[in-house]
Amino acid sequence: MQKDIFGRKIKQLSRIGKVLFLHLSPVGKRKISVKLAFHQRMSGRLAVLDRNEVEKATKHARIRIGLDNNKFLVFFDPRKFGVAWYGHDKVLNKDKYLNTLGPDALAVSWQEFNKRLEGGRGTHSMGSTGSPQASSGQAIKSFLLKQNIFAGIGNIVVDETLWFAKIHPQKKINHLSLKQRRALFLALKKVLKRSIAMGGSSMRDWLHPDQGRGEYQDNWRAYGRSGQKCYRCSRILKKSIVGGRGTTYCSFCQRV
Ligand SMILES: [Zn+2]
Repeated sequence: MQKDIFGRKIKQLSRIGKVLFLHLSPVGKRKISVKLAFHQRMSGRLAVLDRNEVEKATKHARIRIGLDNNKFLVFFDPRKFGVAWYGHDKVLNKDKYLNTLGPDALAVSWQEFNKRLEGGRGTHSMGSTGSPQASSGQAIKSFLLKQNIFAGIGNIVVDETLWFAKIHPQKKINHLSLKQRRALFLALKKVLKRSIAMGGSSMRDWLHPDQGRGEYQDNWRAYGRSGQKCYRCSRILKKSIVGGRGTTYCSFCQRV
């Protein structure tokens, strides 16, 4: 990657779920476009820094790329859970994680969303479109967290979405009515748009590449609020474990 990336231009940025792609131009004899992609996971973050800042910030800097404006793109990853990919599409398309990503949750249509949830109900055991199918009767929260179903739904988004849609996280997919699936779809879009508009959630020391902070953490309705009052009914929010993940919900607004 070190030699190959030299001289290429960043043409475009894109995102599928939690993966950020930098599209890099061909240069000279290297006639094929390539992509550099990052998944920040639990502790990773990207930063654009000046030369003097880079020299100080050597700790946990796993990737450093010099830019032509005298700045550096740095991928910090103290816990080493993050992932970076580099290569042309044929290489990336073979990657086990990238090639199983579902449609991006922000972009997915109602028809596709509903189809995947119906697939999860076990009514079409072999989806004719080859969509990944879930076993019937699993908890809606666990289903929504699977990146091969919809890419980009994490623990914050799922708890917020279920709170807005008034659906219990343990509710079985095959018990969701059409009305509830529709409510879930609308809530998901609302939560993702709110989160993006507020710059996401700055937890621990996560910052934007320009060092700005997100503000969504100040606007959570469910996530991280167990023991506090529900904004809708004033009852105390509960915490439990669903699919191995800490889960906050209102047992009054979100009944099974
Ligand atoms: Zn409530």
